[in-house]
Amino acid sequence: MIHISATDRVFVLTGAGVSAESGIPTFRGAGGLWRNYRIEEVASPYAWQRDPRLVWEFYSMRRRAASAARPNPGHHALAKLEESLQDRFSLCTQNVDDLHEQAGSRRVVHMHGELFKSRCDRCRRAPFDDTETYEPPRDVPRCHCGGHIRPHICWFGEVPYDLDKIADALDQSTVFIAVGTSGLVEPAASFVARVRGRARTIYVGPEEPANNFAFSDCYWGKAGELLPQIFRCD
Ligand code: NAD
Ligand code: ZN
Repeated sequence: MIHISATDRVFVLTGAGVSAESGIPTFRGAGGLWRNYRIEEVASPYAWQRDPRLVWEFYSMRRRAASAARPNPGHHALAKLEESLQDRFSLCTQNVDDLHEQAGSRRVVHMHGELFKSRCDRCRRAPFDDTETYEPPRDVPRCHCGGHIRPHICWFGEVPYDLDKIADALDQSTVFIAVGTSGLVEPAASFVARVRGRARTIYVGPEEPANNFAFSDCYWGKAGELLPQIFRCD
């Protein structure tokens, strides 16, 4: 049981594992390969420069796969926890799907972007909602400024979003819970080290993450099975 007192502030970090039971494959589960390309070769600024149509083909495929997915009991349990803790809760996800929002979570930071948003690769226009697919023979969409519209995704080699906001929430937290994340992708993998010593650090997932040493408590199992039953709030 994770006991949450009336003064605790909870920071939750989720990874691909929380969406696995909704049918969205994890990064390594998919073999890290797509049509014989390494993920880095379709999800990097280099890939965008070299072959933007291929990049859009990849993200169109991911949009289609994610649009059929529905939240699982793990997403719902986190939305329920937020409902009881309100501003004492923050959720940072590495996932680009919208399953946390579909489950009712409101305080969600998508540090790696959002699959159903796009933005211009040239001007400062804000990212906008976009559920379209852009596959050949469709051209790469253009912005009114002449730039190209790209997925609002933090690619390999790019800086994750909202790091200041995340750092503030981490520094205020007294309970840190990581769910379904391999502890290999930086900077998210180091969040636990930042709070360790000051906050309780808890891991939830079926396998040991690479940064396992930094957690004080681990709950081994599936997010959709464990999360609905492990929180006890005062
Ligand atoms: P990862 O694929 O590296 O690791 C997934 C982790 O989930 C593993 O540790 C695995 O043990 C665990 N897991 C598997 N099934 C689980 C379950 N039912 N419950 C709980 N945990 C489970 O994922 P990562 O650490 O998030 O990093 C990979 C990167 O790939 C991220 O940057 C992310 O943006 C991206 N990604 C996102 C999605 C998505 O949006 N749903 C899917 C795949 C990859
Ligand atoms: Zn533009």
